[in-house]
Amino acid sequence: MSLKAPKGTIDILPKDSAKWQFVEKTLRDICDSFQFKEIRIPVFEHTELYVRGVGETSDVVSKEMYTFNDKGERSITLRPEGTAGVVRSFLEHGLYADSQPTKLYYMISCYRYEKPQAGRLREFRQFGVEMFGAASPAADAEVISLVKHIFDKLGIQNLTLNLNNIGCPSCRKAYNDKLKAFLTDRKNDLCETCQERLERNPMRVFDCKSEVCQSVLKDAPRIYDCVCPECKAHFEEMTSYLDEMGIAYQLDKSIVRGLDYYSRTVFEFVSNDIGAQGTVCGGGRYDYLVEELGGKPCPGIGFAMGIERLLMVLENAGISLPEPKEPQLYIAAIGKEADKKAAKLVHTLRCAGIRAEKDYMERSVKAQMKYANKIKAEYTLVLGDDEIAANKAQLKQMETGESQEVCLDELKEKFLS
Ligand code: ATP
Ligand code: MG
Repeated sequence: MSLKAPKGTIDILPKDSAKWQFVEKTLRDICDSFQFKEIRIPVFEHTELYVRGVGETSDVVSKEMYTFNDKGERSITLRPEGTAGVVRSFLEHGLYADSQPTKLYYMISCYRYEKPQAGRLREFRQFGVEMFGAASPAADAEVISLVKHIFDKLGIQNLTLNLNNIGCPSCRKAYNDKLKAFLTDRKNDLCETCQERLERNPMRVFDCKSEVCQSVLKDAPRIYDCVCPECKAHFEEMTSYLDEMGIAYQLDKSIVRGLDYYSRTVFEFVSNDIGAQGTVCGGGRYDYLVEELGGKPCPGIGFAMGIERLLMVLENAGISLPEPKEPQLYIAAIGKEADKKAAKLVHTLRCAGIRAEKDYMERSVKAQMKYANKIKAEYTLVLGDDEIAANKAQLKQMETGESQEVCLDELKEKFLS
């Protein structure tokens, strides 16, 4: 049996989990102030949900899904992303019937069969938000401003916000014909997947990672330049909100993102410091997705952020994150009776929220003190028969070496004060 975790998966070990908890708490607190509420969705869904919700011609659906038949012969897929599941839940539970907008966030693991490399895993974690019911450009700006706030709060400065306007199905139709004509002339230069995309969904070619396809696209017409007046006005209004909030951005006419059901605003936050996988966060408006998945027309806008990539950016920027917390007190015990008393004392302290620790290895008192040192206990206390009889002991501060006598009944108050 192999003891190696499957390719593309990671363990988040105790030495690192405090960093994750800190980042996750920061994200939750920010959602709280923006009034986005958490939604928790299943790890797997019916395969069809992703085929329709992400789009058949996307890399995710065409190449990357973990799909299998369950014992009831249903085709099941491990979630490759969050939006489709959130929309399914929004519809299933009639959240659209509440006063709108519906503002949701999620923190999930995702599964994609990809070639593992730095910043690209097969199991990875995403944080994302979705806002339903609001078509106004102010909603797009709010979602973007939430991402910006996350980076500001974490102290990340060197990320670029790239924006594009991909129009609506009506302006995209004329554009698709134009793009198709352009690409058909250069069909033989495209990769195999894109030759197929060309027929079914030519804009997807922009999403291709292959260099040859990207070089073909250099002179291709851009959807940004072909959108209808309504879509143009929506985008301009949205950027005027960003201007008002002092959020800097760049136009990147090559971003198309998820596409099929995406519309108007699309955006990415990109880092130049973490290698090829520099997109930390991607999002956009999806005014046609809810309808596509069986609901009444309902606008939506959201984004997803890779948490591993966010941590890579933090590390790269030299931003220090919390380490696991050390014990405030270690109680060393001499003998069986004292060990029981120590158990009672640490229990009382822990119930009061104090980080207390004791021995479980039947170590000698000397070895217990050595261990207390190793785990960097802030204070130690040695408990023997004399201490128990007197109900008093010496509380030693490890860093200074200073000791003070404390009454065992008042230990808790000592740490709470
Ligand atoms: P990429 O262009 O890097 O393949 P994507 O367009 O497939 O990204 P999305 O589906 O938009 O990515 O997912 C949102 C975010 O999730 C990405 O910006 C990235 O931070 C993260 N992400 C996506 N795929 C992976 C992966 N395989 N491993 C780690 N993080 C990922
Ligand atoms: Mg991808």
